[in-house]
Amino acid sequence: MTYSTDARSLGTYDVVVCGGGPTGVCAAIAAAEEGRRVLLVEGMGQLGGIGTSGLVSHWLGGRDTHPTRWVVGGLFRRLSVSAASKGIALLPEPEPDGSYSPHGWTKRGSLVGGVAFEPFEMALHLEEAAVEAGVDLLYFTRVVDAVTDGSRIANVILHNKSGFLAVSASVFVDATGDADVAEYAGCPTQLGREEDRLMTPVTLQVHMDGIDEAALKAYIDEHDAFRFLDEIEEWTRSGEWPFIYNRFISVKMPGVGTFMVNTPRITGVDGTDGAAVTNGMIQGRKEIFMLRDFMRTHIPGCEKARVKAVGSSLGVRETRRIRGEFHLSVNDVIDGTAFEDAIAYSCYGWDLPDPNKPSYQPMSEKFKAPRHTPIPYRVMIPQKVDNLICSGRIISVERDVLGPLRVMGPCMGMGEAAGVAAAFVASGNAETFGKVDTESLRARLRERGVILEGHDTEMRRSPEAGVAER
Ligand SMILES: Cc1cc2nc3c(=O)[nH]c(=O)nc-3n(C[C@H](O)[C@H](O)[C@H](O)COP(=O)(O)OP(=O)(O)OC[C@H]3O[C@@H](n4cnc5c(N)ncnc54)[C@H](O)[C@@H]3O)c2cc1C
Repeated sequence: MTYSTDARSLGTYDVVVCGGGPTGVCAAIAAAEEGRRVLLVEGMGQLGGIGTSGLVSHWLGGRDTHPTRWVVGGLFRRLSVSAASKGIALLPEPEPDGSYSPHGWTKRGSLVGGVAFEPFEMALHLEEAAVEAGVDLLYFTRVVDAVTDGSRIANVILHNKSGFLAVSASVFVDATGDADVAEYAGCPTQLGREEDRLMTPVTLQVHMDGIDEAALKAYIDEHDAFRFLDEIEEWTRSGEWPFIYNRFISVKMPGVGTFMVNTPRITGVDGTDGAAVTNGMIQGRKEIFMLRDFMRTHIPGCEKARVKAVGSSLGVRETRRIRGEFHLSVNDVIDGTAFEDAIAYSCYGWDLPDPNKPSYQPMSEKFKAPRHTPIPYRVMIPQKVDNLICSGRIISVERDVLGPLRVMGPCMGMGEAAGVAAAFVASGNAETFGKVDTESLRARLRERGVILEGHDTEMRRSPEAGVAER
């Protein structure tokens, strides 16, 4: 690329992490805690990715629906518990009688395992954790190219207000959510569905406040109104429901009467296409205010609902995945295949809505939800480039496997493992990511409090876990 020759050099790091979402933050903190010099490059002005900039303020897949059982340990648990102890996050428990609780859901679909949080304070919480670990941060900076030398990335090209910049490193972590670095470096990737490259719908996320929690709860309990499915059917028949999706999803946030309303869905948006993302924002904003108006007149307890905040980035659920040496299949997940190189587990179901029918979940119609899905180390290793590791929702999996693995708890687990592996390679412990001794990696992860047994079977009461178990 022409701009690589003009780019001002930022010098050399041991590890450069590209993207500061849930997986990138954990990769950067872990690599720095392992003694490496780390730069974290983030396109937005804060850490947390979809969880903060996208306002999806709810880490799923790291806690079981049994609220004292952690499936993802290590940094995910540390950051969740410390956030809860500061009042930034909720670690919900079910109502004793199993009724609907605004903190979670009912027996018919529990969200009890989620960690809901206040997004703006969470950005601070993550930033403080990264700075304390010694990570150098560079905000409002996008990775725009990767310059390779044989089978290695020599440096990545960045762009921000200073112009084009180049930074070299021993190793790189692609945590962009879109496999941007892998794509720039020439690694094989797959965009969306194999047959037509269509992707699951996107959402511009909204937080609403002014909601009367007691009135909402009373209605849901009295009418068994899980996701308002029956009501929406009725409103569709009467012509009152103007949307293409047919369920109302809301998640209680820490503030009184405040909910993340994860309801609108937009089809046909390619999150790697600048014009499509812009259209997604325009359509998403329109839908949010239409939905608010609908809620005020139709959803009990929402008469005074107010838009508190709208995501500053579009909520894109799916774009590129790398094609690694190992590809995790749907059959592996269904069969519960165990992997000797598992570096984290997920505890979540088949959640990847159909690209054309935004409320339809093809996999959960056919298969029971997996309980704990192991994530093999090898799914993070791309083909062709030796000093790159890819974590988060871009890993090498058959598309439907994204359902259980794309949520943020497991992404944070992968990030921590990628960061420790990056420290191994950068310190000369292994020549390439493909040659990392996974037994040593797993041993180090265990020492860091990572859970490698599917869940915390002994229900250990570590001092920091006390907050969760109150
Ligand atoms: C609408 C919606 C609802 C969801 N609901 C939930 C939920 O309730 N709970 C849950 O756990 N998960 C949920 N998910 C899934 C989850 O949010 C994502 O799969 C997860 O955030 C992926 O993590 P990541 O770190 O791989 O990517 P991201 O969170 O997307 O983070 C990537 C980061 O990299 C930055 N970046 C991207 N490209 C570049 C570049 N070229 N240069 C520099 N920086 C770059 C971005 O700004 C971003 O900060 C939802 C997703 C969506 C979209």
